[in-house]
Amino acid sequence: MTSNADQVMIFDTTLRDGEQSPGCSMTQPEKLRVAKALAELGVDVIEAGFPAASPGDWEAVNAVAREVHGPIICGLARCNRGDIEKAAKALRDAPRHRIHVFLATSAIHREYKLNMAKDEIIRSAVEGVKIARDFCEDIEFSPEDASRTELEFLAQVVEAVIDAGATTVNIPDTVGYTVPHEFAELFRYLRKNVRNIDRARLSVHCHDDLGMAVANSLMAVVAGARQIECTINGIGERAGNCSLEEVVMAMRTREAFFNARTGINSQRLYPVSRLVSSITGMPIPRNKAVVGENAFAHESGIHQHGMLKHASTYEIMRPQDVGLSRSSLVLGKHSGRHALRERIRELGFAIDDTEFARVFEEFKILADKKKELFDGDIEALVLRSEGSNGGPWTLAGLETQSGAGSARATVRLTHTDGRTVERNGEGDGPVDAAFKAIEEATGLRPVLRKFELRSLSEGEDAQGEAIVYVDHNERSYRGSSATTDIVESATRAFLEVVNRIESSQKAQAAA
Ligand SMILES: [Zn+2]
Repeated sequence: MTSNADQVMIFDTTLRDGEQSPGCSMTQPEKLRVAKALAELGVDVIEAGFPAASPGDWEAVNAVAREVHGPIICGLARCNRGDIEKAAKALRDAPRHRIHVFLATSAIHREYKLNMAKDEIIRSAVEGVKIARDFCEDIEFSPEDASRTELEFLAQVVEAVIDAGATTVNIPDTVGYTVPHEFAELFRYLRKNVRNIDRARLSVHCHDDLGMAVANSLMAVVAGARQIECTINGIGERAGNCSLEEVVMAMRTREAFFNARTGINSQRLYPVSRLVSSITGMPIPRNKAVVGENAFAHESGIHQHGMLKHASTYEIMRPQDVGLSRSSLVLGKHSGRHALRERIRELGFAIDDTEFARVFEEFKILADKKKELFDGDIEALVLRSEGSNGGPWTLAGLETQSGAGSARATVRLTHTDGRTVERNGEGDGPVDAAFKAIEEATGLRPVLRKFELRSLSEGEDAQGEAIVYVDHNERSYRGSSATTDIVESATRAFLEVVNRIESSQKAQAAA
């Protein structure tokens, strides 16, 4: 690596812009787990949420600020005192924290959303930055919809917020409208026309509506941006955000071209990508760059021949550089603690002793049912979300009977308050019947939106993962579970959803 390469900061917004997108909501323990994984990945800034959005968001940002060490912890706020004070309070326990204030600047937003004139926008942006400076020295400002803002006006806004104390100015392509060449010109324009531009770090934030978020972000770096805002697997509003793993590997693979580098530990990319996919239920397309299942698979004969002679004939990155070290060795019931621990490490996961003890227990139970355990099985054991064993309800018994077109199920549930409830349900099939029995037992009747089953590994005794998506009181929830029995997986996934609903109702009642 060249030593004179400029450092580009990686600002991860998986927990804010990513989490805001439909179907990607996470519980607080899940957000903490992702934040800890991001810290290990080596991101420079974690945008943990939008504290003023809801009490739950505030709590989550505060938990990340208290428990996650290393990166700067950031919270988003609109340009008003209420939002900024909430963000400051949520963040104050983090040794290094940043307040990120934003205000839209484009004509279309000024007119239709804010109903504010240009001078009012500048006044409000300056005011927001100044209020934030009372709490914190590290202030980022984003002119929302910057890429559709008149260049001259954008330059005025940027100059004014830097004078007011913004230390980072982020240029968002909020609607994913710009193209690489044009976006680079925008950055060049700002560097040339904003008098005090050297006093702030320029940042870029792109959306992928036209599939150019990564390309646009890279061109911004070429034109002087020194912070990239991105999300794991590119999750985010609509088509998503700039994907962290792609932008990081592009800079790493072509470091000489960009003459810039990031501080990311690329070998953690694959595990973090799997973790976020598993928690949000957003699958990674097989052909996704860098972390897709096929990203390093060579099927065609000509390629394989070249690969055998020399990997670099067709490979610009090595699988181990992104943390992919698939081993063909399978584990079984005679595998000991050491072998399991070693495999978990090879798969890129860092888990503590308490968690390992739980995983090992479950590993032994699974190994009794299943002869061979593949990497997919081990990942499922490690990733099994806390929601499934942290909720108020636990599955203590499940029986099903099914005949032609009808089925009955009996579930026995225990509650953390000491109750044991047993109920029956009837339905078209055993899964349907078990869901009805859980509804009877818990009194919760969420609307089932989607139900998916997939096999996690190979063989007829493979673990089946069930994923359940429901709506309840205008919120969406997702639950998943993997066991060797699909009816049991489905029942546990549904129970996880019920646990989440009950926990969130409790949190709302307390707020
Ligand atoms: Zn965004």
